[in-house]
Amino acid sequence: MRVTRELSRGVVYDTVDLMPSDPTCAHAPRAGAIAVRMGAMERRNIFAGPYLDRAAHMRQDPAWFETALADPESRVVAVWQSRNLVTEGDSARAVLLELSSVEPLLATSEGLILLGRFNERYCFACELEAIDPPQLAVDASFEDLRLLASRLPAEEAGLLAYARAMITWRRRHRFCGNCGAPTVASRAGHTLVCSNASCRIEQFPRIDPAIIVLVSDGERALLGRQASWAPGRYSTIAGFVEPGESLEDAVAREVLEETGILTDRIDYHSSQPWPFPASLMLGFTAIAASTEVRRRDDELEDARWFTRGELAEGVVVLPPRQSISFSLIEHWFDGAAAGKLRDIQGHEPWPRARR
Ligand SMILES: [Zn+2]
Repeated sequence: MRVTRELSRGVVYDTVDLMPSDPTCAHAPRAGAIAVRMGAMERRNIFAGPYLDRAAHMRQDPAWFETALADPESRVVAVWQSRNLVTEGDSARAVLLELSSVEPLLATSEGLILLGRFNERYCFACELEAIDPPQLAVDASFEDLRLLASRLPAEEAGLLAYARAMITWRRRHRFCGNCGAPTVASRAGHTLVCSNASCRIEQFPRIDPAIIVLVSDGERALLGRQASWAPGRYSTIAGFVEPGESLEDAVAREVLEETGILTDRIDYHSSQPWPFPASLMLGFTAIAASTEVRRRDDELEDARWFTRGELAEGVVVLPPRQSISFSLIEHWFDGAAAGKLRDIQGHEPWPRARR
């Protein structure tokens, strides 16, 4: 994958050459390039970015799927008990297995989900279902992606997150929610169809939108902490979007419920796929229209205002640098001449992920 960048009228465009021609495959996607409009390059969060060509237009072509399965260059991202296969040294690397190495572990190829074209190879995800770690002929181990993210190349972190999300969705939708019959995969694993002929409801990969917001009164940032977190850890306010709400509605409601603060001027910042298990974090900034913190629910143990000086002094432990929460705090902190937050804070790892 080749990325070139140009600046046009103040907007950064990454031109990503995603689809080199593959003369060995008649069904390969056409060669070409797409332009991805990015508001600002530095707002791309980990797990995001055009790290692969999803080849979505080919999912409905069974012949193409079979061609990709038969291609000896095709690779598999294996997931076992929500963990990804990696090698670990000074840095971590994703392990992409040959299809032949997982075929004995899979009952049928129906378990394979097409992720797309990554580094000029077709790439699938599959779950290896076993109580103990599967024995593979590679020097690698299944690890928690949340703990690895900062040490993986960004495009591999994105690929593993995508695989983890698809596998989780697949596992949690084995039966039809309408009639209870088993579901069957179609469209290269991106649709699950009810096997009951009188139902036939289709299910698609699910993402749960959640807002996350840095509220400021200009001089201070509003941060909160949950009782289960390590002592001293604080983060931005976050919560799931509910049916019947816009994103802005959810931002205003969550901040009010968790802190009692009224918000004004809510602006979009960036987003981050968060496959633990199925969220998309939608990041915002907001200006406070009131200042008295008064929690209305028990979601947070504490919420309070912090100055840039307090954050610089390390009076709280901030979220890890790879999180959108850190990006939002950094965006606010670096907006004043108090130094760069990245030079001061953000080394704490994420806690171990739950399934
Ligand atoms: Zn059904």
